[in-house]
Amino acid sequence: MDFRETEEQIMLRQAVSGIASKYGHSYYVEQSRSGGKQQELWDELAASGFLGVSVPERWGGGGMGLTELSIVCEEVAAAGCPILLLVVSPAICATLIDKFGTEAQQEKWLPRFATGELKMAFAITEPDAGSNSHNISTTATKDGDVYRLNGTKYYISGCDDAEAVLVVTRTSVDEATGHGKLSLFVVDLESAGLSKTLIPVEITAPEKQFTLFFDNVQVPKDRLLGVEGEGLREVFFGLNPERIMSAAIAVGVGSYALSKAADYARDRSVWGVPIARHQGLSHPLAKSKVELELAKLMYQKAAWAYDNDMEAGEAANMSKYAAAEAAFTCLDQAIQTHGGNGMATEYGLADLWGMARLLRIAPVSREMILNFVVQHSLGLPKPY
Ligand SMILES: Cc1cc2nc3c(=O)[nH]c(=O)nc-3n(C[C@H](O)[C@H](O)[C@H](O)COP(=O)(O)OP(=O)(O)OC[C@H]3O[C@@H](n4cnc5c(N)ncnc54)[C@H](O)[C@@H]3O)c2cc1C
Repeated sequence: MDFRETEEQIMLRQAVSGIASKYGHSYYVEQSRSGGKQQELWDELAASGFLGVSVPERWGGGGMGLTELSIVCEEVAAAGCPILLLVVSPAICATLIDKFGTEAQQEKWLPRFATGELKMAFAITEPDAGSNSHNISTTATKDGDVYRLNGTKYYISGCDDAEAVLVVTRTSVDEATGHGKLSLFVVDLESAGLSKTLIPVEITAPEKQFTLFFDNVQVPKDRLLGVEGEGLREVFFGLNPERIMSAAIAVGVGSYALSKAADYARDRSVWGVPIARHQGLSHPLAKSKVELELAKLMYQKAAWAYDNDMEAGEAANMSKYAAAEAAFTCLDQAIQTHGGNGMATEYGLADLWGMARLLRIAPVSREMILNFVVQHSLGLPKPY
């Protein structure tokens, strides 16, 4: 067993961190509040090829894997500028197009994922189908050379920034189970009949959330990704990357918070010694660090398994759970370490609260992960 990162991975980590640190958390907050998209940071990462690290070389990408993409994701978050769209666009959408796209579809989209020019949103959640994807009611009905999409998706991130959205729809019903048979489509966000409304949320992030309304949206049949009716099986190939990337973001957010906490604890004196000398303060920070490192190890294991075509579901789920919990604890403890300043805008911690809280809910909630562990890791009856 070798736990060392390769020289290439270490260089990638340093290079991404170097770029993101130039922007820093104040840039992230300013962008989030002004409606910016961290485009300068995105472009600089893209120009260095870092957004396309996991796209195959034949499409102009780095030909590396999820391990490297998660390094990018972790390091931008550790510099205080998490990019949620990395979870959706390169990790889910590019992965699914690479796996299930026709040659023509791959040629159309993957080179632009490789350069970072293309941003694609991902839409599975619906008002009546969050944790339960079987309940999806957005339909795609074949009509000659097109499919007509009708329904509503909600909490879809980045629709004001992305060019297209990968949509999970129902194309028929499995008579035996009554569950929908699902199909995936790449839909232009400018399509006629497709409209969106903003969902205001208490999360400081450049990615905004939208409800998408599909009113008889015509989608050419060459926008069907994979096999009609096989969408549920197919979408699962994108869910492990989604979980691993969310874990990487969470680890980055936790590292950012802990590093700020350690700096503050070293400098701040209240009783004649730095507050770091009080075990009541330093032990919770140490405990948070332990939890963060364990979560990091688990997401790296998951990414490694995924890149080596091994079963990654258990590690991906567990790492997402552990990292979200660790990020939350790290941030909370970092705020506590700062006392009143923990709530000050200037110290750049409290504005990450919504993000840290979100990571326990989305893209998969901790309860659904525990359900997975109950059933698949412990072999107990399905608890729902
Ligand atoms: C900021 C943000 C961004 C998002 N971005 C996207 C996106 O880009 N694309 C997209 O498709 N979706 C996105 N989502 C949606 C997100 O994936 C869902 O919110 C999440 O999967 C939970 O679904 P839900 O909100 O419908 O909760 P529900 O399914 O209604 O669940 C509510 C609560 O009940 C619990 N629960 C549900 N079922 C069970 C069960 N069987 N056992 C135990 N507990 C259960 C859940 O864990 C949760 O705590 C986003 C959400 C947010 C808030």
